[in-house]
Amino acid sequence: MKSDTGVSGDGSTSLATLTRREEECFAREHPRSRTLAERAKEHLLAGVPMHWMAKWPGGFPLFVAEARGSRFTDVDGHEYVDFCLGDTGAMSGHAPEATLRAIAEQAARGITTMLPTEDALAVSEELTRRFGVTRWQFALTATDANRFSIRLARHVTGRPKVLVFNWCYHGSVDESFATLEAGQVVPRRGNLGPPVPPSETTKVVEWNDLDGLEAALAPGDVALVLTEPALTNVGIVHPDPGFHDALRGLTRDTGTLLAIDETHTICCGPGGFTKAHGLEPDVVTIGKPIAGGIPAAAYGFTGALADRIADSIELEEVDVGGVGGTLAANALSLAAMRATLDEVLTDEAFDRMIPLAERWTTGVEEAIAETGVPWHVTRLGCRAEYLFGPDRPRNGTEAHAAGDFGLERYMHLHALNRGVLLTPFHNMALMSPATTDADVDRHTEVFAEAARELAS
Ligand code: PMP
Repeated sequence: MKSDTGVSGDGSTSLATLTRREEECFAREHPRSRTLAERAKEHLLAGVPMHWMAKWPGGFPLFVAEARGSRFTDVDGHEYVDFCLGDTGAMSGHAPEATLRAIAEQAARGITTMLPTEDALAVSEELTRRFGVTRWQFALTATDANRFSIRLARHVTGRPKVLVFNWCYHGSVDESFATLEAGQVVPRRGNLGPPVPPSETTKVVEWNDLDGLEAALAPGDVALVLTEPALTNVGIVHPDPGFHDALRGLTRDTGTLLAIDETHTICCGPGGFTKAHGLEPDVVTIGKPIAGGIPAAAYGFTGALADRIADSIELEEVDVGGVGGTLAANALSLAAMRATLDEVLTDEAFDRMIPLAERWTTGVEEAIAETGVPWHVTRLGCRAEYLFGPDRPRNGTEAHAAGDFGLERYMHLHALNRGVLLTPFHNMALMSPATTDADVDRHTEVFAEAARELAS
């Protein structure tokens, strides 16, 4: 939107000129994707299977032929290093061996029956080891894991409201699509057809604002605080030292439940940020990567909360309580979860992935220093990101203000044309167990080239 960060200097090669050059290159190099994108306009809304896929830079999305490990190939035969990894859905690396084997074996033995399989026990035991909360339920998406946690929290506490932090993202959960404008809770820009004004359901507080949090929790009408342990969906925004202790203290003091959404922050280690930093949430939610890309999610409660929930629901009515999903906890998802957790996203895998993100961060840092672009880079476990501003944001508002739609599109398209895919709508990179030093170094090279052009 603004593209006025001053990085394109005297205007001799403006951002618009550079972007046009990249768009022409993209169109020229991807004739097959372009043809498919044209054909797609006939029977797909906006020419894409998910509307937001229209937002990829380049004028049309790449069509994928095959994805394996840390890389994928498009239908025109170009290979890419994939740092997007399905926005964490493929953090295991694409098509991991162990998950493939489990899927094939389970699919041949039945995919869904509405009855439990033994894998559910193994997965819940492993999730308990990792995250500390002890009683689990399954869903197919992180969105649903969050949605159901909110519903159950309202049910057991008898309180109407949910509290989220400004510029959070927890999936397509109505209660979380709110932002602060002049201190008022309003629908987030782009929020389509909200069922009620979000101020009726939701309180929004700035991340790291403990006074605001205390004031919002004081009336005792908040059922649940739902948060990522570090924001990852408006750029990475870390918690201040002491923030989590205070958050836990304030929620406990006011009888408010605390849910930690680890869907992205599992990048911090096998038990996510929760384990890495000794958090003590009442609820943990997680989706995306835990089944190697097969739809699967989980939400877990402390034993005390699980008892409260179970005791408060009539067996006769348990099937119509608004916590649903006919295909949730299906045998295929559970087999994929078990294999992915036990054999792919292992403790040892994180020992390799986190140093790769450190390498990525150092490479970007050096290029920023060399070229003088007024940006900075930050890291959270095996995830890293550069932001268009010199200073680390302390909250969602500051992080959002550092966004630059035009500059971001240029950086992403420049990288794509050179065989590197970044997470869209951010400048984020995620490492998988299959990612290599060479993959990381390729990004550094491409990033430095783009930064040099912008700075010249
Ligand atoms: N929680 C967080 C923290 C997320 O980042 C996302 C998606 N980006 C979700 C939940 C929702 O995931 P899904 O779209 O797979 O339901």
